[in-house]
Amino acid sequence: MALPLLHGYLDPTLPALDAASIQELNQHAARDLAKRSIPGGLIVLLALLISATASPIMDGACTLICTLFTLMTIVVLLRLLSIRLLFKQQINLKNWRRLSYGMFTVSAAVWGFYVAASFYLYQNITINMVIMMFTIGIASGAATSLFIWKRMTQIYLLMIFLPIMTVVLLQWNSLTASLIFGLAAYLLFLLVQAKRANTEYWRALCVNKLLQKQTDELVTAKEQAEKASMAKTEFLSSMSHELRTPLNAILGFTQLLATDPESPPTRQQKDSLNHILKASNHLLTLINQVLDLSKVESGKLELNLTELQIGKLVDDCLPLIKTLADEKAVSLNIEEAPSTLVVADAMRLKQVLLNLLNNGVKYNHKGGTLTLSYDTLGDHLRVRIRDTGIGISEKHQEMMFRSFSRLGQENSTTEGSGVGLVITRNLLEAMNGKLDFESQKNQGSTFWFDLPFASQ
Ligand code: ADP
Repeated sequence: MALPLLHGYLDPTLPALDAASIQELNQHAARDLAKRSIPGGLIVLLALLISATASPIMDGACTLICTLFTLMTIVVLLRLLSIRLLFKQQINLKNWRRLSYGMFTVSAAVWGFYVAASFYLYQNITINMVIMMFTIGIASGAATSLFIWKRMTQIYLLMIFLPIMTVVLLQWNSLTASLIFGLAAYLLFLLVQAKRANTEYWRALCVNKLLQKQTDELVTAKEQAEKASMAKTEFLSSMSHELRTPLNAILGFTQLLATDPESPPTRQQKDSLNHILKASNHLLTLINQVLDLSKVESGKLELNLTELQIGKLVDDCLPLIKTLADEKAVSLNIEEAPSTLVVADAMRLKQVLLNLLNNGVKYNHKGGTLTLSYDTLGDHLRVRIRDTGIGISEKHQEMMFRSFSRLGQENSTTEGSGVGLVITRNLLEAMNGKLDFESQKNQGSTFWFDLPFASQ
């Protein structure tokens, strides 16, 4: 006989579990139930001993009590043994379940029979009330420890209550009628409580299992993604190295051809050579960016952090930006830099400045302005680069800083690769700084970055 699916619990709102998980949960629940049932078994045995010796039943029906006590002792010992076997995995779950059903049923029947016999033999209210108190305690204990197996709990409670209720019914009078009613109501209450606890227990177990499975799946997916990303980075890095060598040859020989004094190129040839030079330079920039990106992503970037004055670097960048700015009639507003030193890698910081200034011109309107200003904020310097250009829509802002994402500029005439900002942000973070921006479509954008001041 196959194990029932989670002891009758089935929640259609939860995704179905596979057979192995169900088996695991059944095993977990069996161990839980075993642990919970140990004190219960010992208490029932003790309750039988105490209540029997303290009441006249021991004198009147000694053989019966001794037999019941022996039976109960055997059951409790067997239960302890079976629990040991379960924890040592020397018994399979199906057999353990059968054995437990048998033992719980016998121990409930022994108690039920004992109380019924006592009620039948001694119609003494005090004695019967004391025994009833024990019975109520045992029944509620059983309901709170056996609820994991719903059917077992039902059988256990019925085995205790039915013999008692039968005897009480046989002695029908107004007093016993209220007792019957009280017992029935209490039995019902325990059954309802046990059913609710059972549902909550199995639901929690299933949800935990599902969460654990989902977490495992996510971890595997993450590991796979990381492996794929590593492979991509390595591929890009080796490809970029391989591409750079022939490209440098193309650039070198094109320059030689363009400037050869012995056989100077014709005007048309010069135009073509300029096209080759422009395209090759563009390709070289792209390859260098991809190389930088793979270095940054693989953590192989080497930095030379020193204390420097940012104004000097900005001055170095300006001639490079100015040519482009003049072409687009963008006016440059460059604030004087504070003299305080920051900690950064000079070459990489220049790369950051060039990228942001370049973007500020590239994505600006003709005749627009580009402003560079500074703010001293506590222990760091904030550098703002504000343009009055095309801005970035809210939809595109969410996709910012994704490699190779050009945010709607894919088909525009503005050249770019969509990796500059990713590199810029990573470079700044590697220099203990950070990059952020705000932008409004058609109004312009402000990119700012923070760098720590050198300690005085
Ligand atoms: P590239 O400029 O080479 O495409 P970047 O990584 O520097 O790559 O920028 C990514 C994208 O972000 C650009 O393609 C552009 O759509 C947008 N962007 C960057 N800077 C600005 C700016 N100052 N104004 C408007 N859009 C910008």
